[in-house]
Amino acid sequence: MLREEDKIFKNLYGHEDWNINGALKRGIWKDTKQILAKGSDYIIDEIKKSELRGRGGAGFPAGLKWSFMPKDSDKPSYLIVNADESEPGTCKDREILRNDPHLLLEGCLVAGFAMKAHVCYIYIRGEYYSESSNLQKAIDEAYEKKLIGQNSCDSGWDFDIFLHRGAGAYICGEETALLESLEGKKGQPRLKPPFPAGSGLYGCPSTVTNVETVAVAPTILRRGSAWFAGIGNPKNTGTKIFSISGHVNNPCNVEEEMGIPLKSLIDHHAGGVIGGWNNLLAVIPGGASVPLIPKHICDTVKMDFDSLKDVNSGLGTAAVIVINKSVDIVEAISRLSHFYKHESCGQCTPCREGTGWLYRMMQKMIKGDMVNKDVDKLLDVSKQIEGHTICALGDAAAWPIQGLIRHFRPEIEKRIINYNNKRKVA
Ligand code: SF4
Repeated sequence: MLREEDKIFKNLYGHEDWNINGALKRGIWKDTKQILAKGSDYIIDEIKKSELRGRGGAGFPAGLKWSFMPKDSDKPSYLIVNADESEPGTCKDREILRNDPHLLLEGCLVAGFAMKAHVCYIYIRGEYYSESSNLQKAIDEAYEKKLIGQNSCDSGWDFDIFLHRGAGAYICGEETALLESLEGKKGQPRLKPPFPAGSGLYGCPSTVTNVETVAVAPTILRRGSAWFAGIGNPKNTGTKIFSISGHVNNPCNVEEEMGIPLKSLIDHHAGGVIGGWNNLLAVIPGGASVPLIPKHICDTVKMDFDSLKDVNSGLGTAAVIVINKSVDIVEAISRLSHFYKHESCGQCTPCREGTGWLYRMMQKMIKGDMVNKDVDKLLDVSKQIEGHTICALGDAAAWPIQGLIRHFRPEIEKRIINYNNKRKVA
């Protein structure tokens, strides 16, 4: 369990002031000038040593990603903070944005300076109205106090932050679709390469990174990479905000150490599963796109990138969706299929056609109106979508269905038998 003194997000629940006075009391913006004085190589090196992995879902090492930005470029470099947070079940960045926005802004300055960027755009989902409002007020406060702007924190570094509200498309959370949207175009993912560090916003070097990843950086630099790396497990270090929803007694966001057992997380922080642990059916551990895991895996699995990968799932955004036995699991996964079908941008064929086909097959599965071979075909088609699309939405549509078939095939086959028996009687 994470010790109170190791928590980075001291105002996660908004019990204290979110504005500049509250932020200064919590130690935000403390020694920022001294941190910047150590230089960009030092900052990137410390982030690498802390083994911080991106908190937006992919878990890519943050320091390494920041180091991809060119040290010398005749084009401007940009830091883009992805605050689109649209993955179903995920609501962690929301708390940072509305309850501790200065933690993010200080992180933007530090990360931007490390990447040699003078400009940062924060792309926030349009529905986050009060979050945008608090964040804009925090930006104004930071300008007033000369923490950002010309000669930010008296460091000699000029740094501007602009807030941009999105118009509400899930796909704009994909980094290159986000860049397109920021440029005023239709939010559709770009083919990679080139990667944003080479050619991103307006064709200039850019790094798109998640709110939580940026927000933890100043504390790592103040307390040292060894402190952060000492929490959790090797390669899965530090603290993490988990969003726990679904069939628990106390749905919540909580900052905990990476690698906490899933059962402890649910029991200690979310008041346990409704109906008790034995009433648990499955958990989607990292936002809607990762494969579910059934109860027998939930009994022992740890909540970190590698442990969840080992059980064919993923930490994703650490949005833990708890499903108890009151749920029709086939219908639940079918609902997710509808979501991904609806959110496909339609640019590439396997996703545009495939997500609709998956959804139609799932509708048949709900009734049991298929034969066993159809289940194999569904699995096969999902694997042909996975990894064959421009962006990860294709994978996101395929994985929940793959998880369902992997762990609940007997339930699916039972439906097929029941459906056929009813037809015979009729
Ligand atoms: Fe668009 Fe889907 Fe292709 Fe992504 S995978 S680019 S969402 S069609």
